[in-house]
Amino acid sequence: MNLILLGPPGAGKGTQAEQIAAKHGIVQLSTGEMLRAAVKAGTEVGLKAKAIMESGGLVSDDIVVGIISERIDEADCANGFILDGFPRTLPQAAALEKLLDSKGKTLDAVIELKVDDEALIERITGRFSCSKCGAGYHDKYKKPAKDGVCDKCGSTEFTRRADDNEETVRNRLMAYYRETAPLIGYYFAKDRHQSVDGMAPIDEVTKQIEAILS
Ligand code: AMP
Repeated sequence: MNLILLGPPGAGKGTQAEQIAAKHGIVQLSTGEMLRAAVKAGTEVGLKAKAIMESGGLVSDDIVVGIISERIDEADCANGFILDGFPRTLPQAAALEKLLDSKGKTLDAVIELKVDDEALIERITGRFSCSKCGAGYHDKYKKPAKDGVCDKCGSTEFTRRADDNEETVRNRLMAYYRETAPLIGYYFAKDRHQSVDGMAPIDEVTKQIEAILS
């Protein structure tokens, strides 16, 4: 099963992709995560992407299409994958279609997480994660049970994404509405688009996605 989760930054794509991937034994492919790893490793791609990501803009289509094309050839993607944060532009969607065709793969679902704009900034600027195990938290909605201590691994070190500050978030939202939102119409026209209520509690959103997948 191969699917796309669509939605603005902060819609919960990563959270849902993680749940669905674990349940179905498929792989979560987040271009954002892959790019952050490249930046951290100081690779050529990372060097090209760093400043763009820090400003909240979009990395070039060639780079992200190249990353995804290579990644879905890996053995762990044979069962299927969830694209989280890709495609993000119409040319990326067209390139994805071509590359899936050429690899004999199909797209089974495109699911949009619908959220209220006003909720997004607060959702993003409040989030942080455990530096050791990656568990996600939020200043308001999901604090660790014991202040300053990770519920999952007990670590006391936490990090915030460099691009989760308000100014960059506004640029990321702008990029979403300018470049990515047209994909909703694109997949609707292809009779592929379905949506769930991204404002519902996390487990409820997962249930809605599961209902579509079944
Ligand atoms: P994300 O983790 O999905 O919020 O992505 C973080 C940042 O990585 C974005 O703000 C972009 O700068 C970059 N990025 C991730 N995926 C893509 C993509 N498909 N196309 C272009 N830029 C991307």
